[in-house]
Amino acid sequence: MHIVWFKRDLRVIDHLPLLRAVEAGPVLPLYIVEPELWRQADAAGRHWAFLRECLAELRDDLAALGAPLVVRVGSVTDVFRALHDSHGIDGIWSHEETGNAWTYRRDKTVAVWAREQAIPWTELQQHGVIRGLKSRNGWARKWDAFMRRAITPAPAAVAGLDGIVPGDVPSAQDLGLADDACPGRQAGGRSKGLELLSSFLLERGAAYHKEMSSPLTAAESCSRLSAHFAAGTLSMREAAQAAWQRLEGLKALPKERRAGWETALGAFIGRLHWHCHFIQKLEDCPAHEFRNVHSGYDGLREDALDRARFEAWAAGKTGFPLVDACMRSLQATGWINFRMRAMLTAFASYHLWIHWRETGLHLARLFTDYEPGIHWNQMQMQSGTTGINTVRVYNPVKQSYDQDPDGVFIRLWLPELARVPKDFIHEPWRMSPDEQKAAGCRIGIDYPERIVDHLSAARSARERIYAVRRSAAFREEADAIQARHGSRKSGLARRGGKQQTRDRKRRKVGDQASLDL
Ligand SMILES: Cc1cc2nc3c(=O)[nH]c(=O)nc-3n(C[C@H](O)[C@H](O)[C@H](O)COP(=O)(O)OP(=O)(O)OC[C@H]3O[C@@H](n4cnc5c(N)ncnc54)[C@H](O)[C@@H]3O)c2cc1C
Repeated sequence: MHIVWFKRDLRVIDHLPLLRAVEAGPVLPLYIVEPELWRQADAAGRHWAFLRECLAELRDDLAALGAPLVVRVGSVTDVFRALHDSHGIDGIWSHEETGNAWTYRRDKTVAVWAREQAIPWTELQQHGVIRGLKSRNGWARKWDAFMRRAITPAPAAVAGLDGIVPGDVPSAQDLGLADDACPGRQAGGRSKGLELLSSFLLERGAAYHKEMSSPLTAAESCSRLSAHFAAGTLSMREAAQAAWQRLEGLKALPKERRAGWETALGAFIGRLHWHCHFIQKLEDCPAHEFRNVHSGYDGLREDALDRARFEAWAAGKTGFPLVDACMRSLQATGWINFRMRAMLTAFASYHLWIHWRETGLHLARLFTDYEPGIHWNQMQMQSGTTGINTVRVYNPVKQSYDQDPDGVFIRLWLPELARVPKDFIHEPWRMSPDEQKAAGCRIGIDYPERIVDHLSAARSARERIYAVRRSAAFREEADAIQARHGSRKSGLARRGGKQQTRDRKRRKVGDQASLDL
């Protein structure tokens, strides 16, 4: 029999390993729940809750093809060994996975075991990430070529095996996962992913590029597909092709009706590239999960963890309303938009001077869409430790005025500030005792004093970061990092005159669209 090992690719369409295995012989579609994986520091109940919903739909989809999903609990090699003993495995089929360090080690162990048993394990490329990549040159072109290839259809039927018990999908409690209340979590399952894709491309995405930065509008205007990409309920190719198709369809519309949509969809497709661009970095360098991308920053924050500051940040009690509202919203929903993720990280890394690993673990557990390749590289980028990106010390007060001018989002998530007038909602510490009384919010009692003076904290962080960047040795390593991991589009060093000025202007806007990757 041939095993299709489902990992983070929980679908039957655009699943080449499944199709190939079906062509090779009887198939056992298998998902292995690994208790040790769920004991890792980046795992959370909300991840499992989302996955369970995805697994339930996958089981139905496979059952409709003739072989329901088989679920086993244990270490992968133990599960494979038992199946090999009972049925004899002729081949294992899966997608390549760029996960965390734990799954990387597990895959190596599985590869050794399969080799010892002389069982071929065929791993196929899932999205734009290329295994064993020698050079970043031409990467974007390869991404495009991969995404433009025809979508692999679901097999017409899957010839399963008799006498195999499908097995139950364990609960979060079975896996020993801590309670993780997330009442606003988005639902898992391919059908939900398809609904999101369609509503985004036809309705919600019209003002994507304008509304992605504010937490007030982003939840509706962004695609919200990230958790589905992380679980693989939809393939990146399906999303890219649907967006290209929609762009094609727009050509029939008069110019004034299509202009906004074209910009929105262009921005969206750009981000689909980014998904793979970031994961490629972790594929090429798994140490990014733990070590500063640029070693010049080693030792800067490692020993500086101030527990009280960390806990205030993690609980959404820093005294900075937008920071706290974002954190509490994230706790309750499992999602926040890019700009606010960047601000939460920058605030912790610069203003509070906390190492990105600790805060990154906390955020990983809160993001339903946790994707190690994007996550750890973004954590480092927003903490200034890559050596190749612009240092962005987001001012949490300015962001508050810009992204939530009337304090609507803040009041939604911080009920203790519900009656604070607009003039003070971004800087409640400026209220006099009488004003605090009138607003029903005593600073230091009902809502915390701000944890740091954000202006002097930012100044001090900038000085520490820039001190590292001045040395000649720093430049040399940064150039090597750019050559290995940097986007060729943002190769600023190679750009000249007008383009460089344009780049600078765009970066000043500070929008996600202007990110230099
Ligand atoms: C500190 C930090 C940590 C992050 N951690 C994660 C993570 O664990 N998982 C994750 O999927 N994204 C992560 N992101 C990137 C980004 O914030 C999310 O992908 C996005 O907010 C998800 O919402 P969406 O699906 O509506 O995105 P959309 O804006 O609709 O974008 C479509 C898709 O493009 C990709 N994408 C969008 N923005 C980025 C980006 N900046 N970098 C890479 N890919 C992007 C995602 O796959 C996303 O689903 C992180 C960003 C920061 C600053």
